[in-house]
Amino acid sequence: MSVPPTRRLRLAWGGATDQGRIRANNQDAMYADSGLFVVADGMGGHQGGEVAANLAVRTVAKADRESLAQLRDAIIEANQVVHETAIKQPELHGMGTTLTALAVSKEAENPKFVILNVGDSRIYRHRDGQLEQLTEDHSYVAELMRRGEIDEQAAAVHPYRNMLTRAIGVHADVETDEWVLDPVAGDRFMLCSDGLTNELDDSEIAEQLALEQDPSATAKALVGLANDHGGRDNSTVLIVDVHIELVGSTDADPPEDGEPQSPIVVPPDAPNLPDDAAEEPSVEQGHSSAVKHRSWLYDRVRITLGTAIISLVLLVTSIAMVTTIGWYARSGYHVSVVANHVVIQKGRIGGLLWFEPTLQQWTEIQTVQLTGQDLRRLSDGEQMSDLAEAQAFVANLRTRLVEAETGN
Ligand code: MG
Repeated sequence: MSVPPTRRLRLAWGGATDQGRIRANNQDAMYADSGLFVVADGMGGHQGGEVAANLAVRTVAKADRESLAQLRDAIIEANQVVHETAIKQPELHGMGTTLTALAVSKEAENPKFVILNVGDSRIYRHRDGQLEQLTEDHSYVAELMRRGEIDEQAAAVHPYRNMLTRAIGVHADVETDEWVLDPVAGDRFMLCSDGLTNELDDSEIAEQLALEQDPSATAKALVGLANDHGGRDNSTVLIVDVHIELVGSTDADPPEDGEPQSPIVVPPDAPNLPDDAAEEPSVEQGHSSAVKHRSWLYDRVRITLGTAIISLVLLVTSIAMVTTIGWYARSGYHVSVVANHVVIQKGRIGGLLWFEPTLQQWTEIQTVQLTGQDLRRLSDGEQMSDLAEAQAFVANLRTRLVEAETGN
């Protein structure tokens, strides 16, 4: 009498990251091991973005994350670590990061994939030639698209297309979007930063994923294409292929449909665990770096001693200058109009140098509801000293609108 073979989940993965053709450094970070895959895209002047992305990824990688709840807690912890670091170090003030994670949850009899997302990095699934975006962007333009106010073409050129409505580290609390999926043999997941999706459309991405090349080669090809298309941002791609093996059989293919299927198990020692699971960042030079079987995947710039000394002097001067300008540019809040809505933005009206105001809070109040006087006033922007004052201004405006509507 034969014993049915055990079905075992096996994942193969590979990643690539590149600073692109415009940016001076790479503020993306990624992490991969046998059960956790993360991409983060940092934001913030000076070194803030790089610090935020790396801090968040490290925190999640070190935490327990064998269930959805544990992974959620790990992301909440990452949010606290980034937020508190930003408060303690003025030069990092305002830093934040996206974070998108795919993990194997072992809490049930059968392993599941869990996906958690904050921000506009994305996870896609490629199955049977079809590409599907699984995560939803937490960005201002995505919100406008969901409300049917703009289409994809308008979103691609929208002046606020980089504005996030949710990110790790910006506020004391964070909310995650979550999905749970069953492992299906042949599925190919792609985690990526917006540096890829702003340069390539879905059909170009699907074409590469369908080639069924090795995950590292695929990731490298996609990042290379992002650079060929302009490379205006850092781009990062992490590919995860799902295999279900029959243990005790030489046949590594998934069972046919209709065949009796035993539960899928996760091997105690996954076959493609990194050789060294120690938490040492791997050092990668600044160009395309496809990495497989490694835990830490960060871009680092290697500098010589001579250039280091000159750079240090320039850096100290620049930090002082940038910190002062940045502090002023980000100080205060203003109420203004974006895409026909009244919003609260952090920073000076119109921005200062490369410091753009960031969306703090958007409201349901639309410009069509405003009087001509309010519309003129808010179109120019109304500077406030702090968030409370801006919120009080909006509350007052809302009250006036309700009173005007009800005739009180
Ligand atoms: Mg980016």
